[in-house]
Amino acid sequence: MSAAALDALAAALGDALSVDPAELAPLTADKSGHDSRSLPLALVTARSIEDVQSTLRIASEFRIPVVPRGAGTGLAGGAIASAGELVLSTLAMNRILEVSVADELAVVEPGIINADLNTELAKLGLWFTPDPASKAISTVGGNIATNAGGLLCAKYGVTREAVLGLKIVLADGRMLELGHRSVKGVTGLDLTALVIGSEGTLGVIVEATIRLRPLPTGAVATIAAYFPDVTTAAAASAAITTAGLRPAAMELLDARALRSIDRYLGLSVRGVSVAERGATLLLVQTDGAASEAEAASALRIIEGLGGDAELSYDAVAGEELFAIRRAFHPALEAEGTVLIEDVAVPRSALPAMFAAITEIEERYGIPIPTVAHAGDGNLHPNFVYTPGPDGEVPEIIWQAADDMFRAALALGGTLSGEHGIGILKRRWLADELGEDQLALQQQIRAVFDPLGILNPGKA
Ligand SMILES: Cc1cc2nc3c(=O)[nH]c(=O)nc-3n(C[C@H](O)[C@H](O)[C@H](O)COP(=O)(O)OP(=O)(O)OC[C@H]3O[C@@H](n4cnc5c(N)ncnc54)[C@H](O)[C@@H]3O)c2cc1C
Repeated sequence: MSAAALDALAAALGDALSVDPAELAPLTADKSGHDSRSLPLALVTARSIEDVQSTLRIASEFRIPVVPRGAGTGLAGGAIASAGELVLSTLAMNRILEVSVADELAVVEPGIINADLNTELAKLGLWFTPDPASKAISTVGGNIATNAGGLLCAKYGVTREAVLGLKIVLADGRMLELGHRSVKGVTGLDLTALVIGSEGTLGVIVEATIRLRPLPTGAVATIAAYFPDVTTAAAASAAITTAGLRPAAMELLDARALRSIDRYLGLSVRGVSVAERGATLLLVQTDGAASEAEAASALRIIEGLGGDAELSYDAVAGEELFAIRRAFHPALEAEGTVLIEDVAVPRSALPAMFAAITEIEERYGIPIPTVAHAGDGNLHPNFVYTPGPDGEVPEIIWQAADDMFRAALALGGTLSGEHGIGILKRRWLADELGEDQLALQQQIRAVFDPLGILNPGKA
């Protein structure tokens, strides 16, 4: 069966098909720390919509599971493939097909890297706002398939807010055009929204019509505020939001995160090691016409709560401070295998969630360095571990993660703010959705993909 399928794929796709073990090896993993450790059947590097359609028609005919893949930077295992599966990469479909300044939109192929797109758009004074910390390495198709968030969501929204329409190829090879080019559009059910964040389970995204914004004007202000404890820093970020301020970014790094980054970068800020300066760092950045007034108000709130803060309008200094935040993941990777978690809670519950994480650290005797997109209540508590003989996450880490998910749900939060469910969080899905909603979601999936060949085993 596999041999016949490979023959059919080779005949239809030529050199877009690869069974070279060296090319298949990286496809058993993404950036989640999980590795299937079994080579997939083959890789299709699609160059066109027709390639995607041919691949899916043949996969349907032979009932071969298909794993859509962008740049493989996902943190939930959604693009990981294993034996018997066909990887369908859209990475090489990376053209910008159209930019309309008048309509503030662009039409792009899914494989374009987020930062590369923005480099081109900046020449026209425009901007695609989704800003995951992986923007230099992740694709727009992957951003859409995961409904990626990032540093700017509280002010500029998540990826969903920046997508007007999609072309997707269904599991049987038919292509659908979803959504619209107009600012408004409410005809029929909103299938575009359904596909955004569906992690490659409903169809393969082959083109996206994305919403653009003018680049922000005004001076960008950056505040670095050090606090003696994480709860006060979280309270300061909540107070900034409650005061009606809308910083472009508001990032919080706890003491363990700062110490790891310090070890990794050997960093000192103005001659003082960040980890010695204070137990917690809150970074606040304002932009746009009201930037200066918002920064001054945020500074007053921070200082009122005892923060030791500096405000700068220097672009280089601002970039250096945010580079500290972006160094978090590499810093932990330098210390072991990392399980990056991704719970989100209502903003007002941020201090309570930090308190819960501290309790879990003490209960299990495991350090949980944590950063948060504080402006939207999204926390990334991290576990650094040594994998078991088969690459598995140690059970004690899952127990601590289980406590953490339950704490987030009890605070009115969610299992995943932006990274998705993939394979890593399937076992908790029913806890959040409930049995009825989970069953309904499975039925919807079966309507799109009756044979169940798209990303099976992922959620
Ligand atoms: C250092 C680092 C920082 C990160 N920071 C953030 C962050 O701030 N915010 C955030 O949200 N995420 C972040 N991520 C996670 C990751 O970069 C995002 O999830 C990103 O959107 C994945 O894009 P990708 O192209 O790598 O997709 P992949 O990892 O290849 O795939 C991700 C999922 O999308 C599906 N998929 C990919 N392409 C398609 C397609 N064309 N059609 C259908 N399905 C498809 C896959 O099947 C899989 O389920 C970070 C990752 C790293 C390593």
